[in-house]
Amino acid sequence: MKTIQTCVLICGGGCAGIAAALSSARNGAKTLLIERAGFSGGIITAVGLPYFDGLIDKPSGRFVVKGIALELLQRLGIAKPGAKSIDDLPPDLVTKYWGSMWIPNVEHFKVLTDDLILQHKDKLSVLYHSVACDVEVKEGRVAAVLIANKDGLTRVEAKQVIDCTGDGDIAHWAGCPTISSKPLMPLTLHFRIGNVVPVKETKDMAKKVLIEAHKEGRLVNFYGPGLIFAFAKDECYVHATRVPADATNAADFTRAEIQGRKDA
Ligand SMILES: Cc1cc2nc3c(=O)[nH]c(=O)nc-3n(C[C@H](O)[C@H](O)[C@H](O)COP(=O)(O)OP(=O)(O)OC[C@H]3O[C@@H](n4cnc5c(N)ncnc54)[C@H](O)[C@@H]3O)c2cc1C
Repeated sequence: MKTIQTCVLICGGGCAGIAAALSSARNGAKTLLIERAGFSGGIITAVGLPYFDGLIDKPSGRFVVKGIALELLQRLGIAKPGAKSIDDLPPDLVTKYWGSMWIPNVEHFKVLTDDLILQHKDKLSVLYHSVACDVEVKEGRVAAVLIANKDGLTRVEAKQVIDCTGDGDIAHWAGCPTISSKPLMPLTLHFRIGNVVPVKETKDMAKKVLIEAHKEGRLVNFYGPGLIFAFAKDECYVHATRVPADATNAADFTRAEIQGRKDA
């Protein structure tokens, strides 16, 4: 099996992985980022859920988390240079109630993260379509991670491995103690419906449909619904399905995906 070496290996290219990879490369470490999708961004781009929560202190409206998160918002043209508070953001991209803002174009987010990775190409490389699938532990440390992609299996030896899989895959396989909530949170399959004319009652109408489907036994569980028209005026993004399942079990995850699609 082929072996490659790096100083820092980041597994998972969601927001956490992108921030870790840029930070590592900017601090001079030879860094490899691997991501199972064909792009970075995790839930923002793979799901299309475009919210950036948790950066703002709600009572004062000021940014309390800055760093690469704020840099991304600035490079996307959402936050003004030197933005200090929610008032420095375009009002139509802000939900004051949550103290959060959203990214109206997730394709732009993919291109931006590609550009940032390429800007650091002397230190930072990325392998998309690459899944971390096992680890080698030596003397209580993760010495190597096995990745699977179109090249087959590759061992990546790294001095430091950072688990940004969102699921703690690396930590779990390495034998670190991990916990999961009981009961497990149900899984959500977000979806979009085109050609919707939004009216004042849209949400109530959608809720009525969900309640009816639940009563008739066609829908085991549901949320909200949360409806947003973030991407186009006539396209409704729906956050409503809730499938009880264990996403760390491949067979159960597959069953949930099929069920979620049916529910959608
Ligand atoms: C239903 C739902 C609604 C949410 N709503 C909001 C919201 O409105 N606002 C908000 O701020 N947050 C929200 N969150 C939380 C938000 O999704 C997370 O806080 C955020 O995604 C965490 O970022 P991350 O980079 O750690 O993980 P992720 O975004 O999950 O990224 C993990 C990345 O790792 C990759 N990966 C996973 N396993 C492997 C592997 N073995 N090998 C290679 N790559 C791998 C994945 O493809 C993915 O790109 C929501 C979460 C859910 C589930």
